[in-house]
Amino acid sequence: MLVSAKEMLNKARDGHYAVGQFNINNLEWTKCILQTAEELKAPVILGVSEGAGKYMCGFETVVGMVNGMLKGLNITVPVALHLDHGTFEGAKACINAGFSSIMFDGSHYPIEENLKLTTALVNTCDILGLSLEAEVGAIGGEEDGVVGMGECADPAECKMIADLGVTMLAAGIGNIHGKYPANWPGLRFDVLESIKKTVGDMPLVLHGGTGIPEDMIKKAISLGVAKINVNTECQLSFSAATRKYIEEGKDLVGKGFDPRKVLAPGCEAIKATVKEKMEIFGCIGKA
Ligand SMILES: [Zn+2]
Repeated sequence: MLVSAKEMLNKARDGHYAVGQFNINNLEWTKCILQTAEELKAPVILGVSEGAGKYMCGFETVVGMVNGMLKGLNITVPVALHLDHGTFEGAKACINAGFSSIMFDGSHYPIEENLKLTTALVNTCDILGLSLEAEVGAIGGEEDGVVGMGECADPAECKMIADLGVTMLAAGIGNIHGKYPANWPGLRFDVLESIKKTVGDMPLVLHGGTGIPEDMIKKAISLGVAKINVNTECQLSFSAATRKYIEEGKDLVGKGFDPRKVLAPGCEAIKATVKEKMEIFGCIGKA
C-alpha cells in the first residue's frame, strides 16, 4: 500500500539521513526503483512530473501501475507516490487519482498567492492523510519546458509557508535541475542554515540531486535536508547503457532485438544509480 511521505521523512530528519525521490518515466523505471529499494530495505519516494504523468497515459494509469507492482513485486518497504512540481490543477488531479503525496510548486507566484493556494491544499491533504511539499524560491534549470535561473529562498517566506503545516519544504539554495554547468558555484549553505533556523523541525527537500558532489550532499543532510530528488542521473545512466548495447550491435545478435533484452542494460544502470544515491543519502536499511 502506498504511504504518505510524512513518517519516513520525519524519521530521516531525526536519523540524519535523507530519503531519495526518484522520478519515474515508465514501467521499467518504476520496477527498477522499487526492486532496488526493496533489496536495500530503503524507504523510497516515486516522483511523477505532470509531463511524465501525461506520458504514462495519465495519473490513474500511474497509480494503477504502481499499486500493481507493490503487490506483484511483494514490496514491503514504505513507498510514497508523489507529484513533482505540481500545479494547483495537477495537485487536485493527483489527489483524486490516488497519489499518496503531493508537491504544489507555487514558487513562481507572488508569496501571497503561493500562501493562499498552499493553504487550500494543506487542508485537503490533512483530511486525506497525504503528505504535501511546498516550494519557496524557484529552483534553476529546466523542468517540463519551464526554465528558471535558480534563486535563493527568503527564509522569512519559508517560515510563512512552513507554518501553514506542510509536511516538507523545498527551498532554492542555488540548486539546479538537470546537469550542473561547469562554473556552478555550489550550494548556498549559509542560506540553508538560515532557512533551517526559521523553519525548525520541518524536513527540507533538495531538488536537482544530479551532479551535486557527495560532500555537499552530506553537508546538506547535516543541515536538515531529509529528501533529495534525483531524476536526470537515472536518465543519463539508462541512455548510456542503452547506447552501448546498440553500438555493440547486440540487438543484431540472436533475439537481441527483444525489447526486454534491449532495455535490460538500461534497467541495470538505473538500479546501480539508485543504489549509489541511496548509499550517499544514508537511507539503506532504514525501512
Ligand atoms: Zn525539482
